[in-house]
Formats: sequence, C-alpha cells, structure tokens
Amino acid sequence: MKNFLPPILYLLAIGFLPLVLATAKAISFEKLKDRTFRKTVAKDFLRTFPACALAALPLMIFPGAAKWYLLGIHLVFFPLFVLEFGHVWYFGARIGINTFYSLFVSTAAETGEYIRQNLSVFNVLAAFVPFFAIAYGLWLLPPPAYASETWHWAAVAVTVALVVPMVQNSLKKHDYQRKTSYWLNPYVSLAYHYLKFRINYRALREMILAHAAPPFAKIRSRLEGAARETYVILIGESANSHHFHCYGYERETTPFTEKIAGLRRFAGVRSQFAQTLPSLEKTITFATVKEPDLLYKKGSLIDYFHEAGFKVWWYSNQGALDDTAITAMTTHADVSKCFNFADMKRFEAAGFDANMLGDYEKALDDPAPKKAVFLHLLGSHSAYVNRYPSEFRHFEDAPPKKGHLSVDKQAMINSYDDSIRYTDFVISEAIRLLSAREGVKGLVYFSDHGEDVYDTNEDKSLGHGAIANEPMISVPFYVWISDELDRLRPDLRRAAAKSDYKLEDAIHTVIDVASLENDDFDASKSIFEKAAE
Ligand SMILES: [Zn+2]
Repeated sequence: MKNFLPPILYLLAIGFLPLVLATAKAISFEKLKDRTFRKTVAKDFLRTFPACALAALPLMIFPGAAKWYLLGIHLVFFPLFVLEFGHVWYFGARIGINTFYSLFVSTAAETGEYIRQNLSVFNVLAAFVPFFAIAYGLWLLPPPAYASETWHWAAVAVTVALVVPMVQNSLKKHDYQRKTSYWLNPYVSLAYHYLKFRINYRALREMILAHAAPPFAKIRSRLEGAARETYVILIGESANSHHFHCYGYERETTPFTEKIAGLRRFAGVRSQFAQTLPSLEKTITFATVKEPDLLYKKGSLIDYFHEAGFKVWWYSNQGALDDTAITAMTTHADVSKCFNFADMKRFEAAGFDANMLGDYEKALDDPAPKKAVFLHLLGSHSAYVNRYPSEFRHFEDAPPKKGHLSVDKQAMINSYDDSIRYTDFVISEAIRLLSAREGVKGLVYFSDHGEDVYDTNEDKSLGHGAIANEPMISVPFYVWISDELDRLRPDLRRAAAKSDYKLEDAIHTVIDVASLENDDFDASKSIFEKAAE
C-alpha cells in the first residue's frame, strides 16, 4: 500500500479539523472531570469516522483515478470545510439548524449586514489562496498503488466491512434524525442541517397559520399616569427549585438574587409537564390541561402584550426550530432573535445565557413607551457543564447528602448546581439592568420544568421527560417589582402568596404584574392571593 497516506490524511483533516477546533474551544481541565462532557466528545469523534471512511472508499477501489477524485472532493468539500471551520471559529459551534434559521429568518437583516461588513477582498483572497495551493498539492501527489491485486481487494473488503455497519447504524429508522452527531463533519453536515431546517421551517409556517387567533377583546391598563412601562419575562430551563438556596437547599446556589430588594420568591410552584413544549404551550397561553384547545383559539402572552400596545421582544437562547409551536407564537413579537448556534446536547461552549444581555439592554433603551421583553434561557439543560463559563465553576466538594455517590455522579450534581448559580447571576443582571431604567418596571421568572439529578434514584440521573416526578416538576417562581410599580400597585405587596400554584396559570400572574386586564384575565389565577376588594 504505497502513497495512500497523504490522500487519507487530507480526507481526515477535512472531516475532523472543525471538530478538533470545536473541542479545543470548549475543553477545560474542569470539564474533563465531567462524564457527560467526556462521553459527548468521544461520541462525536467516533461518529465522524464513518463519513471519512466512506469518502476513502472510492480512493481504495480506484487508486488509478485518485488525483481526479481528490480534486473533485476538494472542489466541493473544501469550501464547505471553510464555512464549517469559520462558523466554529466565530461562534464556537458547528453549523446547525439554528444557523440557517438565523441566516434566513430570525436575524436575516443583521446577518446580511454582518456579511457585507466582513466580506472584504482580503477575506475572499485569504480563502482562495489555500484553496488553489492545496489543489495544486493534491495534483502533484504521487499515485497510490497496491503491492498486488490481492492486497487491493483485501483493503477494499476491510474498508467496506468497517463502513457498512457504521453507516447502517447512523441511518436507523426513527433514530437518525436525532443522531445528528453522525453527520457532524463538513462532508454532509451542511446539507443535512439545511434539509432539516427546510422541513422544520415548513412545519413552523403551518404552526404560524394555526396560531392566527382572533385579537383579544378590550385589554385595559389598570395604571393611570405611567408614562413608561417595561416588563421582563425570564423563562428558565430545567431548573429544579429543590436545588435553589432561597428555597432551602443547603448550597449557596442563589447568592446574587438574594441581595436584591423587591424580589419575591414563591415556593411550591409545580409544572404540569416535565418537557419544554407541553409546559410552555400552557404557560404562555390561556390553554390549560382542562382546556387544551385554547392554545389555538386564543393568542399567546406575546399577542396579549402586543394588542395592549406594547412593543414586544423575544430573545431566545434555545433551538428555534425544535419546539416549533413556541417559535410560531414568538413570530408575533416585534423583534425575535435566536442567539444559540449550538445544539443543546452537544458539548460545544457556545451560547451562554448572558450572551443575550447586550441585546436585552438595547431593547430596554428602545424609545417605545411600553415594552415587554422575553428572555428564553437555556438555563440548566443538559449537559450542565456547558451552560456556564469556566469562571462560574464553583461547587467542588461533596453535594449535600450525596457524599456517598461516585466521583462522576458528584461532579454531575456539582455542574448542575453551578448552572443554577449561573442562572441566578443572569437573573440578577437582568434585574440590575432593568432597575436602572426609568418608569414602571416588573419582572417575572419561572422555569418550564425541573430536573432530576440523582434526586430520586442513586443509580441514574433521570433528567426530565415524559414521565414526571417531583424534582422534574418543582420550579422556581420569582416576581420583582420596581418602586414605581409598587407605589401604583400596593395590592401586589399586600397580597399573600398562593400555595400549590400551577405553572400553567403563569400567564395570569404576568398579566397581573403588567397591570393589564380583560375578560380573558382571571385574577383568581394570579399567584398573588388578594383579599376581596
Ligand atoms: Zn425544558
């Protein structure tokens, strides 16, 4: 087997370099202690081999045509490699469905501007020079050759025997769509994610039509003489209130918000569901478990604010086209933007929740007199260790009552608690920035559902899912009210906290805090339990 090495190295380089760069950007000594992180990285590397081996197969079968084959690969896949590599370089994550959503839908105008700014003659040349240099190098490579005919077919047979089961495995019915990692190399990742984007976007447009509910009747404001009003709704992710210090957890997971005056924390709030979509479908609409079809018959909280004369922002750090029904509702916002370019379950370091705060500040400074800003956090979604920057790595000792668990399991609980503490920082920043602005202000924070991190099962971290248990449905619920709002709405301060509050009623609490009302609003479903007036 003579001269096979250089062409195979070239194929491996194109397949693996973006992954190597993404790993280099995400890795740290602390993260290597996290089992989920190690597993995800290992999986992604292993899963890149089938595509590389597949690309090497024609080379093995027809070594005589190697030169032409390599040039063909180079012509098509080197530009894709440059795009993938550039994406990892700038965003810390490989190209995914959110990339296309941002490019064509959510931030299309901004993206166009960004490309125009950066597409200088120099940049174009910088990409073309290596393209031609490598093409020339591939052309000059000596032709690969086998020692004998037997060697030739033996090599081909071994490659086929390795590739076929791997490719078969990656194409398994019902499963291949979720196993995107199999396609995470520039050979096919772009095409795969683009196709997935097209399919999900079609579903999104159907959902948007389904959500075209009639406008809300006669929304009134209960505030008189408020020139400026701003309300912020922070929607958390996988935050289990049993891991919040402010709700009694032994660890200091909420040190930042505990210093904030005017912040009220409600205990005993439960979500009806342990998954994002079914939970939020109820929480930000008037639909309930008893009346699920109100999801389509009435607009969402976004429409409610909009029709009450508010300018509405929806900033999301989550996958835009995974929970399509939520995205369909958010298209009714005046400004809708998706910040995360990484798949939640991959290991990449992109997409910390605080990345949204810059745009959030711009929204707060917008001249519109009435504003509603939604921030959809990635919060504590697994893998937890990827949810916070390394300077927020904090808990390293044995977690409360879990000292008997293995080192790996303790590390996972520690990173979950770190993610809760980071969310606490993000909430405190959101309140700090909001409180510095003029006018009447209020903020509501809750999580869509909780998470079970060795809370009920010593052997398994159960996460969240279709079958819910107590840790998966216990959620934090905060309301912060500015002094200006407090003066106009003393009833909020005087109100008792409702016990056993259902998260699906959160829409009534938000409307209550925003001092709006109409026939759809039910004061008895607000978390503020007010005595009869
Ligand atoms: Zn969720």
